[in-house]
Amino acid sequence: MIEYDQLYIGGEWTSPAGSSTIPVHSATSEERIGVVPEGCEADIDAAVAAARKAFDDPAGWSRWEPSQRAEVLERFAVSLEKRSEETERRVSLQNGMPIWLAQQFEGPFPPLLLRYYGALVRDVAQEEIRPGMLGGKSVVAREPIGVVAAIVPWNVPQAITFLKLAPALAAGCTVVLKPAPETVLDALLMSEAAVEAGLPAGVLNVVPGGREVGAYLVAHPQVDKVSFTGSTAAGRAIGATCGQLLRPVTLELGGKSAAIVLDDADLQSSIESFFAATLLNNGQICWLGTRVLAPRSRYDEVVDTVTGLAGSLRLGDPMDASTQVGPLVSARQRDRVESYIAKGLNDGARLTTGGGRPADLDQGWFVEPTVFAEVDNQHAIAQEEIFGPVLAVIPYGSEDEAIAIANASDYGLGGSVWTTDPDRGESVARQVHTGTIGINAYVNDPTAPFGGIKASGTGRELGPEGLHAYQHLKTIYLAP
Ligand code: NAD
Repeated sequence: MIEYDQLYIGGEWTSPAGSSTIPVHSATSEERIGVVPEGCEADIDAAVAAARKAFDDPAGWSRWEPSQRAEVLERFAVSLEKRSEETERRVSLQNGMPIWLAQQFEGPFPPLLLRYYGALVRDVAQEEIRPGMLGGKSVVAREPIGVVAAIVPWNVPQAITFLKLAPALAAGCTVVLKPAPETVLDALLMSEAAVEAGLPAGVLNVVPGGREVGAYLVAHPQVDKVSFTGSTAAGRAIGATCGQLLRPVTLELGGKSAAIVLDDADLQSSIESFFAATLLNNGQICWLGTRVLAPRSRYDEVVDTVTGLAGSLRLGDPMDASTQVGPLVSARQRDRVESYIAKGLNDGARLTTGGGRPADLDQGWFVEPTVFAEVDNQHAIAQEEIFGPVLAVIPYGSEDEAIAIANASDYGLGGSVWTTDPDRGESVARQVHTGTIGINAYVNDPTAPFGGIKASGTGRELGPEGLHAYQHLKTIYLAP
């Protein structure tokens, strides 16, 4: 059992205002593996007050030289690295992420992002002097936006947390983080690293809690910016609050991306990349290409290849390095995925593999990797985000039809094009309405902006654009 009885607020471990707790369960054994305090409104008040005080300190974090902040972020990166193995273990235990994936993302990504953004503010000027047209000049400066409310989901908890923390802290903002209740043990380990690294008091505060606590934080009068990753439904509610308050907000929401297999594709030779682009993390990633668009001329072959892939994946304990697909995060999530499998069958799609729980695993919230063929793009399993290992293979005639089907979606987050002709792939990619898309692979590179359009959200993370999300532009006109 991993137990915490305090919260990281104001630079130290403090007793929570209330007595409620959040139990944490293993997605694999279903057993209770930890407990942490559940933050309440008074804890959010204390955390926001600490973040406000740290931000407003005239000699504090927001006014420091960027190189000083980069030094602290480097110390934070080192403290996290000391704990990366335990971070990876906790994430896999909690949400079922295969351990090799946690070792790629959950351990290394946070220090990588702290160093990337630390170097960016240290080495790249954050302001410029622009010659004007009317005789004078303008100083165009980027200033930290203020107190940031960061709200994250459970699926890739540490990497997503640092998509927000690293640029926000580098910019000079202070942060109140609300992790998802399903994955709080990694967030409190991260807090231990922050204490060890000596982050100045109030620069980072962590308050675990559910939806109500999150909503209270979003609307808090002392918050200047909200950065949210999660479902589109919650994003709409948060966006509405921020609209009312005229509060800047970044929303990274759901997806139903298209993996477009062109008629010249050699899917078999890119099968590992195809797996990563469609089924990674047990299907629990927002940008996965869960609508597979296949040309009618090669439809049966593509269905066979995708079915063969899904049917051959090794399910099991995510802590076992050979496991390719672990359990889903919770019984609730498994119910949701199973309800979509039932809808697919009801709508007349043809199940080619999976569709149930694995017979040999009687513990853990597992769902077999599942493929449906003969799916119509109007079906619920083609339009709604399932967030599990379920692929819908949709036939198309011409390339133009493939693009039209890809674009007939409320979402626009990820996507991929599979072809032996990269120029053709790029031409198709440019016509897909989405925030990001890959050709013969899909890998989020930290240097390039990531984010969605339409119901997938607004704003960008990663790259210099991810830093700009935590900065105001200020213009100072210099007289001629
Ligand atoms: P969720 O929206 O239910 O919860 C996400 C987080 O928001 C949690 O911390 C939750 O407690 C909090 N929350 C929920 N409602 C809130 C509200 N009204 N106000 C404030 N906070 C609130 O999502 P989930 O089920 O935990 O995560 C899965 C979803 O996240 C999927 O839809 C997935 O696509 C999305 N996601 C998106 C991205 C991206 O970058 N676009 C990345 C990962 C996950």
